[in-house]
Amino acid sequence: MTTHPEYMDAFTLDLFEELFSGAQESPAPEVAASVAAALEQAQTEKATAPVVHLFMLLLTCRRDQGLSPDSFALSRGKLEALARAHTAADEHSVTIGGRVDKALAIVDAANRRVETYLERKDTEAPSGIYLWDEIQANIARIKAALGMTDADFDTYNGQLKFAINDVETLGRAIPLSGNVLAQVARITAKYRMRLTPYYAALIRPEHVNDPVLLQAVPTGEMIDNAGIEIPPVAADHSPARLIDQFYPRTLTIKATNMCAMYCTHCLRIAHIGKRDRIYGQQTYAEALDYIRANKRIRDVLITGGDALVLSNDMLQKILNALDEIDHVEVKRLGTRIPVTAPMRIDDELLEVLAASNARKPLRVVTQINTAQEITPLSKVAFRRLSGAASAVLNQAVLLKGINDSRIKMWQLCETIQAAYVRPYYVFNCSYRNPQFAHLRVPIEKGRDIIESMYGNISGDAIPRYIATAGGKIPLHRSNVVATTDDGITLIKPWSGEEVVYPDADAELYADDNFSFEKW
Ligand SMILES: *Cc1c(COP(=O)(O)O)cnc(C)c1O
Ligand code: SF4
Repeated sequence: MTTHPEYMDAFTLDLFEELFSGAQESPAPEVAASVAAALEQAQTEKATAPVVHLFMLLLTCRRDQGLSPDSFALSRGKLEALARAHTAADEHSVTIGGRVDKALAIVDAANRRVETYLERKDTEAPSGIYLWDEIQANIARIKAALGMTDADFDTYNGQLKFAINDVETLGRAIPLSGNVLAQVARITAKYRMRLTPYYAALIRPEHVNDPVLLQAVPTGEMIDNAGIEIPPVAADHSPARLIDQFYPRTLTIKATNMCAMYCTHCLRIAHIGKRDRIYGQQTYAEALDYIRANKRIRDVLITGGDALVLSNDMLQKILNALDEIDHVEVKRLGTRIPVTAPMRIDDELLEVLAASNARKPLRVVTQINTAQEITPLSKVAFRRLSGAASAVLNQAVLLKGINDSRIKMWQLCETIQAAYVRPYYVFNCSYRNPQFAHLRVPIEKGRDIIESMYGNISGDAIPRYIATAGGKIPLHRSNVVATTDDGITLIKPWSGEEVVYPDADAELYADDNFSFEKW
């Protein structure tokens, strides 16, 4: 048996075999010239790239024209010398066959999987950063239409004071047809509508079903969707005032019923109700008493409505109270305000959050459903929040026409990751509220979208896909296709390729006498 030096590994032997199975013929002069130039570089430069370039060129000549290296007066010996130089130069002793025939081919296949996404993301799912010029023009138009000064627009109070609550104001702020406005009027008689002027500026009015418009302005289906009203979550999961609980160690305090903007797909539509309510001290005291009395509770979510509707003072009081309860270990704040009114994220708020985070970890949980909601302003808000809190996490809702395609969801996840936000959950839109049945997306469609992210975007930009049904239930497809004596057979979600993954040795695992125990 012949043994080979390590730079002539199996990959490289295969590569040589393929190359030299070609015919020796005269190549076209320009091909001969480019091979000669590549050879010259590979021999003179002490680098790996020129060697790779030469072998790639030879492989292309072999595959496209059937030419062997002999056609360029390149002997096997000469190429073996270059293969040796390549492996010797490489820090990880990668062989030329491994690099040219395997690694580059794998990268090539990977690149092809994102080609369509890269071509189409900015037209099919543009971010608010990409659209910033257009949004700034919208801002100018809305300011003029509503009579807002710069100071009004740039402050949270100004955003609330000039909030769009009725159809007449909506019509002034956004160029919508009389027909559309008449439809909206029919709904707002029954459901609350509120858009901040800032959020309204994200809408691209010339797009009929603009994804931000769909989220913020209610349409006829909300009334017309027939169906039996299913009691809202609050009715069967509230063991105490303001509290929702279905887990042993985690619960939520619905600290307000207000939001800066009301979503057309709001799961809490019943709780949000029809009018704003301010809760008294006694209300919060009862909720905190429940937590104090339940020593199992370690993770408390302050939600609403929108937790950042609360004043900095009130937030500080609630966070202080939670920090003083020994068994509370971590806290979360649920808010959409960084995308609906990023001006709310002021220095004083950040100090309150940072102080609480220094005592016990505080996470901010937000809801961003489209990349269009990430503008330079919301990105700054998230950057600052991510500095003050221990993490900023996103819970998106999968919604028809809003984010129900691979391109839209990949773009959402990558855009928010670049805006300091970690994708956490994607919810399949709930069946519990017939009001938004028209926005629901089939479970399988969502599964395909989330699965398509594996292997194509950063692992920490991939959310978990969840059904909300008395708790959050994962909807992921299993990647285990078979269980055998050799282990399990797994499927790679991005290519469909099956791999056998050997299991841990059961006997070895059962043996308690190991490592320090053993010696
Ligand atoms: C969403 C939710 C939680 C938190 O669930 P996680 O999976 O820990 O994010 C806890 N309690 C209630 C009532 C909830 O709705
Ligand atoms: S921000 Fe949350 S609670 Fe408020 S309307 Fe939207 S989904 Fe509902």
